[in-house]
Amino acid sequence: MGPERVWNLRSVEELKSKEFWFHDAQRTLFEKLSTPPNQYVAKNVIFFLGDGMSVPTVTASRIFEGQLRGVVGERNRLEFEKFNFVGLSKTYCVNKQVSDSACTASAYLSGIKANYLTIGVTPNVQVNDCAGARLPQNRLSSIAAWAMKGRKSAGVVTTTRITHASPAGVYAHTSNRDFESDFDAKKALDETVQFSNAIKKARLLTNPWDTLIVVTADHGHTVSISGYPDVNNSIAGLNSEFSDVDSKPYATLSYANGPEFQKFYQSKDGVVERVDLTTSDIGDKDARYPHGVPMSEETHGGGDVAVYAHGPWAHLFTGVYEQNTIPFMMGYASCLGPGMTYCDLQPKVSYNP
Ligand SMILES: [Zn+2]
Repeated sequence: MGPERVWNLRSVEELKSKEFWFHDAQRTLFEKLSTPPNQYVAKNVIFFLGDGMSVPTVTASRIFEGQLRGVVGERNRLEFEKFNFVGLSKTYCVNKQVSDSACTASAYLSGIKANYLTIGVTPNVQVNDCAGARLPQNRLSSIAAWAMKGRKSAGVVTTTRITHASPAGVYAHTSNRDFESDFDAKKALDETVQFSNAIKKARLLTNPWDTLIVVTADHGHTVSISGYPDVNNSIAGLNSEFSDVDSKPYATLSYANGPEFQKFYQSKDGVVERVDLTTSDIGDKDARYPHGVPMSEETHGGGDVAVYAHGPWAHLFTGVYEQNTIPFMMGYASCLGPGMTYCDLQPKVSYNP
């Protein structure tokens, strides 16, 4: 029985055995004990950013992908969930508890937290301060610039427009991002599965002894997985339970805020009540999920996001830290950038089998 076989359960019946859980935990412990930290220099660094990929989005996508493949969704693992080291990144900006895609790009690419809506400039630059953004001392250099200065090549691949805040953080310096909306609803699950597939491809093409792969998100969203649905209940559909107040079904996924409020609530004889979702399109490709506060667009969420790391110095990425630590840890592993690096401390040891 190979490692993939034991993860891919076909039936929830297998979860009902004491022996299953004992051996499952022992296997995970054994895997951890047999993973020494990789302390070689990183020849390559591949940084994957899932825009708005909150922890509940990862959980829901893991279950979703497993259910698509006909296995028990809760047991599934997305490609980056197989990484040995995981930490949490605090995503707030200098002046906002909940951040946008622009100020976070300055943190995870240039190592400096900045003001909401600004890209590639220091916190001295307020939003719309174009003169300030032009001053050389206010400009930040991204890890891509550090790499080129270190005579390495750097590249950006994106599924958004190159001027979207996240990829723009690699090369731009602006005091106001061009507003572009992030994803919403069930598309997030499909996109996370595709994201996982791209990471799988990158792992096939590289050697973990010399390539550091880091996977994280810029900020979270307001999605939650709630109620008490049965194991393997369709994650994108209705909960297997009903509300104990209005006795109507509800979706397992919901958002704290978002558009089309009237699709989920109606007023009857002066009383506001929930719409019965039994005949709704919940679970369809473009379905929207219920939400609390009406907004023209769902906002970002302020919860920490996970950082998954694999390869040289991946063990540095554990713990809870500020988002702007991420590029300095990548720089340490690959001997790049203005911060402390591995090469400063000891002679360079490359992987040489
Ligand atoms: Zn974003």
